Amino acid sequence: MSEEKKVALITGATRGIGREIALTLAEEGYNIALNYRKANEELETLRKEIEEKGVKCLAVCGDVSNFEEVEKFVKEIISEFGRIDVLVNNAGITKDMLLMRMKKEDFESVVDVNLVGTFNVTKNVISYMMKARSGRIVNISSVVGISGNAGQTNYSASKAGIIGFTKSLAKEVASRNINVNAVAPGFIETNMTEVLKEEIKEEIAKSIPLKRMGKAKDVANLVKFLVSEDSSYITGQVINVDGGMLM
Ligand code: NAD
Repeated sequence: MSEEKKVALITGATRGIGREIALTLAEEGYNIALNYRKANEELETLRKEIEEKGVKCLAVCGDVSNFEEVEKFVKEIISEFGRIDVLVNNAGITKDMLLMRMKKEDFESVVDVNLVGTFNVTKNVISYMMKARSGRIVNISSVVGISGNAGQTNYSASKAGIIGFTKSLAKEVASRNINVNAVAPGFIETNMTEVLKEEIKEEIAKSIPLKRMGKAKDVANLVKFLVSEDSSYITGQVINVDGGMLM
């Protein structure tokens, strides 16, 4: 029997942007399937916070770059909830360095998690959405997938790949009432950007028209809109959440 509540799967959801998306969609009344790679205290706290919002939370372990692990956790979600209405491909990594110094493994591992991971999860979820003749997919890209960035050939290639993937899939599944969009965040305050030196962060903030780094909530709010009925006529788009950085 299918659960009455809609189900949202968010990958790499234990911290940062993914965590905020999970909490925001829980507030909207979705049962939440959280994908994580390694269990930790953060996961238990998040699970409690989600359940306090009156929805169910299923945490599923798996590396998105491993097709078999993804296949297994998607089946786990279907056997628990009977449906997946929303997929947010959020899991991502960086391994920044100039191409001169970059090893083949540094390039491959970033593409494997960010781009192949997006393929692996979408491929395993799409048949359920096709059968239901409805679904929403949001892929987290990045402004550097559009603009490029020195020191990020691996990351920006993976994020540009996500944009091509999003547009092609949007065309393939539109007739089944499945909308596929990409979100391109600029500089968002999370663990990913915490590694930057304070003076670099200040320089970045100065160069952003809205004069601040973004918050995970800024991204989650857009995802909330893109999975809602209010965005039913929007598909195949890349929407920046970047304080005006890229215009
Ligand atoms: P983060 O490092 O805080 O979170 C990334 C999450 O992905 C972590 O929970 C991590 O465990 C998970 N993850 C990594 N590899 C995984 C794998 N193989 N399988 C499953 N989970 C995995 O980073 P964040 O800033 O929250 O980033 C979230 C997404 O937003 C990423 O795709 C990132 O590229 C993108 N993004 C972030 C920024 C930014 O400024 N923070 C800007 C543009 C895009």
